[in-house]
Amino acid sequence: MRVLVPLATKQVVGIVQGEHVGALEYVRIREIIAVLDDMPIVTREQLRLWRWIADYYMCPIGDVMAAALPAKIGDKSYSFSAVKKRRVHLPEYTGEIEPFHELDAQQAQAFGEIKTSWQKQDTTLLFGVTSSGKTEVYMHLIREQLEAGKQVLYLVPEIALTTQLTDRLQRVFGEQVVVYHSRVTDGLRAEIYRQQLYAQPRLIVGARSAVFLPFRELGLVIVDEEHEPSYKQQDPAPRYHARSAAIILAQMYGAKVLLGTATPSVESYYNTQTGKYGLVTMGERYAGLQLPEIRLIDLKRQYHRKEMYGHFSDPLVARMQEEIGKGKQVILFQNRRGYAPMMECEECSQSPKCVNCDVPMTLHLRDHRLTCHYCGYTIPMPQSCPHCGGKMKIHGFGTERVEDEVREFVPEAHVMRMDLDSTGKKSAYQDIINAFSRHEVDVLVGTQMVSKGLHFDDVSLVAVLNADNLFNQPDFRCYERAYQLLEQVSGRAGRKGNRGEVLIQTFDVKNPLFEYVLAHDYARFYASQIAEREQFHYPPFCRMITIMLRHKELTRVNRAAADLQRLLSMVFGKRCSVVIEPGISKIQNLHIRTIQLRIEVRANYARAKQMLQQQIAAIQQNQEYKSVQILCDVDPL
Ligand code: ADP
Ligand code: ZN
Repeated sequence: MRVLVPLATKQVVGIVQGEHVGALEYVRIREIIAVLDDMPIVTREQLRLWRWIADYYMCPIGDVMAAALPAKIGDKSYSFSAVKKRRVHLPEYTGEIEPFHELDAQQAQAFGEIKTSWQKQDTTLLFGVTSSGKTEVYMHLIREQLEAGKQVLYLVPEIALTTQLTDRLQRVFGEQVVVYHSRVTDGLRAEIYRQQLYAQPRLIVGARSAVFLPFRELGLVIVDEEHEPSYKQQDPAPRYHARSAAIILAQMYGAKVLLGTATPSVESYYNTQTGKYGLVTMGERYAGLQLPEIRLIDLKRQYHRKEMYGHFSDPLVARMQEEIGKGKQVILFQNRRGYAPMMECEECSQSPKCVNCDVPMTLHLRDHRLTCHYCGYTIPMPQSCPHCGGKMKIHGFGTERVEDEVREFVPEAHVMRMDLDSTGKKSAYQDIINAFSRHEVDVLVGTQMVSKGLHFDDVSLVAVLNADNLFNQPDFRCYERAYQLLEQVSGRAGRKGNRGEVLIQTFDVKNPLFEYVLAHDYARFYASQIAEREQFHYPPFCRMITIMLRHKELTRVNRAAADLQRLLSMVFGKRCSVVIEPGISKIQNLHIRTIQLRIEVRANYARAKQMLQQQIAAIQQNQEYKSVQILCDVDPL
C-alpha cells in the first residue's frame, strides 16, 4: 500500500515494501501520516521484479516504481472499491472460440516441439520465417493456458500494436484480451492495473511496460519480434530490456517463455547454441508460399550510365509501374525522415547545425524549415548560407523526398508516407495502415515503421532505396540491424498469392551481407557475426556497461570523464576503454562523454557493478563534479 510520510519539510508518498521486527541501527524511523490505499496496490512478485531491475540495471528503485505504476493509480476513481463497483466480475473464460485455425503440419510440429523443449528449458526461441504462421502457433499455446486457468502476457514492440494484431486476437479470445501500451489513456491504464490485481485468467497484450503489471496465475510469456531493439528502454531510467525482465518475471511464477522472430538477435540465437534456450524452427511460409525473390540494383552502374530518375533506378521505376498497373501495391523503405538530412553551402561547405545539439538540421520541405531531430529546435529554411551568403544545396534524401519523386516519376500512383512526422497524431498511424489495407493507396513510403509485422495482402513489390546507410555505422551491431531490417521489410512482400519481389538499391553490391540476405540464410549470417564478436571481444563474449557523463560545460565533463576513467582502469584494468567522444557529442546543450566497460563473462557481474558504483560515488564526492550527471546503461544496445 502507499503511505504518506514526512521527509524534511515535505510529505511524500512511499510504498510499504515489507516489515521489520526488532531494532534498526543507523536508520531514522519516520511515522506514517496516512495509509492511502484501501487494498495493496503492489504484489510481492512485483516488488521482487522491481528490485531485480533496480539492481541489474543500476538505478534507484524509485525510478522503477515510477515507470511501473500508472500515473492515475492514486486517483479515488481508480481505488479498489471504485473499480470493483464498476466491474465486479470479469468475464469467465468460456472456452467458446469463433474462427480458430487448425495448425498445418509445420505449425503442429513446432507446437509439439515447443512443449517438449519446455520440459528442459524455461525459455524457447521460435525461429519462424516471415509469414510462417508464428501468430497461429502462439494462439494455440494461449488457448491451452487459458483453459488451464492461467494468464498469458503477450509482448510486442510498441509500434507493432496495431488493430491488425489486436483484432485478430479479440476475434478469437474475445473479452479475455486486454491491451496495454503507451497510447492507452492514463485512466484506462489505472483501471487495467487495478483489475489485474484481482483478475481472472486473461490475455494481456502489451508493449514493454506491461511486464510491470501485477499478475496472479501467469503461465506463459510470449515475446514477439524478440530481436526488436525498442524492447530496451533508452531514456529515462530504468534502462531495462523487456525481454530480460520478462524472463525474470516468468521465473517468479514458474511460467514458460516463448521468444518469437524471423530474424533472431545474435544474443538469443547464441543462447540456443549453448543450450540455455530451446530452439524450434519453421523454415517455410504458410500455405506453401515462397519467400520473396531479392535482387540487388547497382547504383554505381546506374548513375554511371545515367539510368536514374532522381533516387530511383530505371528498373525500379519500371517494376513499380508494372505492379501498380496490375493493381498491386508497393512499399518503399528509406530509413531517414524529412526531405533531406542536411543542407550545405556550395561555397564554404558549411551545414546549418542545431544551436543546442551537435548535429546538422534536417530539411523538412513541406514546412520550409530546418529541424533538429534531437531537440526539436527549428528555423526557417535559409535562402542563402548564413555564414558566407553562398548558394545552398540539398544533401541526401529522406522519406519526404522519396514521396515527391514517386509523384513525379510514377504519376499514376496514389502515395502515402508513414514516418514519425506523418504519424504524430494519435490515430494517424492506424489511419495510414487502414488506408493502405483497404487499397486506397498504391505506394507506401516509410522508415522502419513499414517493416514491423504488418500484413497486407496485395503488396507484391518492396524496395529499399539505399541500403548502404544501414551498415555504414560505427556500431558492432549494425550488420545485425541491417540484416534484420532487410529481411523484415522483405517479408512484407508476397504474403498472399504470388511470390513477392524485393529490390535493394546499393553502391556496394559486393558487400557479403547481401549474400546472406539474398539467400535468406540466417545460419550463415549468424556464423559470420558470432565469429567477429568472438574475435573482437564483443557481447555475448563479454558484458558491456556504458557510462554516460553529461554537463553543460565541456571542460568540466571532460575532466570528470578523465578522472572516472582513471579510477576505473585502476579497478578494471584495460577492459575499461578510454573516454569516447560519442558520434553526437552534445544534445540539448549538454556535452556528452562516454566510457565503455567490458566485463569478462566469467566474472561476477553483480560484484563488478558494485565496484563501478563505488568509483562513481567517489567521483561524485568531488565538489566540482556534483552537478555532472553520471548514468549507467547496462547491456546497452
Ligand atoms: P507470422 O506471424 O509468422 O508472420 P502469421 O501468423 O501472421 O505469420 O501468418 C501469416 C498468414 O497466414 C496470416 O494471414 C494467417 O492468418 C495465415 N495462416 C497462418 N497459419 C494458418 C493456419 N494454420 N490456417 C489458416 N491460416 C493461417
Ligand atoms: Zn537540437
